[in-house]
Amino acid sequence: MTFDLLVRNANLPDGRSGVDIAVAQGRIVAIEPRIEAEAGRVVDAEGHLVAPPFVDVHFHMDATLSLGRPRLNESGTLLEGIALWGELKPLLTADAAVERALRYCDLAVAQGLLAIRSHVDVCDDRLLAVDALLDVKRRVAPYLDLQLVAFPQDGYYRSPGAVANLERALDRGVEVVGGIPHFERTMADGAASVRALCEVAARRGLRVDMHCDETDDPLSRHIETLAAETLRLGLGGRVAGSHLTSMHSMDNYYVSKLMPLMAETGVSAIANPLINISIKGRHDAYPKRRGMTRIPELRA
Ligand SMILES: [Zn+2]
Repeated sequence: MTFDLLVRNANLPDGRSGVDIAVAQGRIVAIEPRIEAEAGRVVDAEGHLVAPPFVDVHFHMDATLSLGRPRLNESGTLLEGIALWGELKPLLTADAAVERALRYCDLAVAQGLLAIRSHVDVCDDRLLAVDALLDVKRRVAPYLDLQLVAFPQDGYYRSPGAVANLERALDRGVEVVGGIPHFERTMADGAASVRALCEVAARRGLRVDMHCDETDDPLSRHIETLAAETLRLGLGGRVAGSHLTSMHSMDNYYVSKLMPLMAETGVSAIANPLINISIKGRHDAYPKRRGMTRIPELRA
C-alpha cells in the first residue's frame, strides 16, 4: 500500500513512543509500531513529540511583544496593566502593530500553535489595532487560523464611542463579540453590557467571548447574567466566559447553583492560568489568593 505521508519514529501525547503514522488524502489512516509501506513523503520524527496543533483560546495580539513599553507594570495588577495599555495605545502605529503581530505568529507556529483566538481593543476611534490584526489575519491564513474578538478594553459603556466602535469592528470582519462587564462603572452597567453585547451577537449570528469577572471580588457575578442571556437568546454553545477568576473567591453555596446554570445554558469557561496566577491576589496580605477559576469542578 502507498500512503501520501509516513511519519516514522514518533512519540505521541498518550505516551506511546516510536510509532509510525500513515496519512492518506489529508487524513491519518494508521498509527502502528511499524508500518511497512511506501509513501510519497517520509519524515523521520526522530523520537520527537507528534501532536495535534495547539490552540490558544485567549490572547491579545495587539499588545504582544510590548513588554516595557512605555514602562513596566510596577504593581503587577490588572488595573495598572489596563492603564499601561491606555498609555501605549495612542503611540501605536499600524506598521509596528503588524510587525509585532507577525513576529509573534512566527514564534507561535514554531511552537506548534496553529489556531489563536485574539481579542482586539476597539476603544480607539481609529480602530488602528483592528485594521492591523485583520491584515495579519489575512496574511497568516495559509498556516495559522487567527480568530478576532471585538474587545472594548476600557468598557463598553465606560469608554466613549465603544458601542459604535464595536459595531464598526464587526462590520470590518471581526467575528466574535467581546466585553468586560467587571470593568464598567457599576455592577448594573456591567450586567447591562452583558445583555446588550449578547443581543449584538444574536442579531449578527456571532459568537461571544467575554472577559468576565476577572477580579478577586467574590460578588462579581456577571457570569450568571452571561449564562441567563445565553439561554434567553438561544446562544448556547456559542458563548464563553474568559477568566472567571471571581469564582475562586465565591461562596461555595452560590457556586453550587452557578455551575449547573452554566452547564444548562451551554456557556464555556476559558481559564487563563498563566496570567491569573500572576496578577490576581495582588491586593491580598496573607493568605494570598491565586485567583484561578474552578477548573476541576467545571470539568466534573
Ligand atoms: Zn484577556
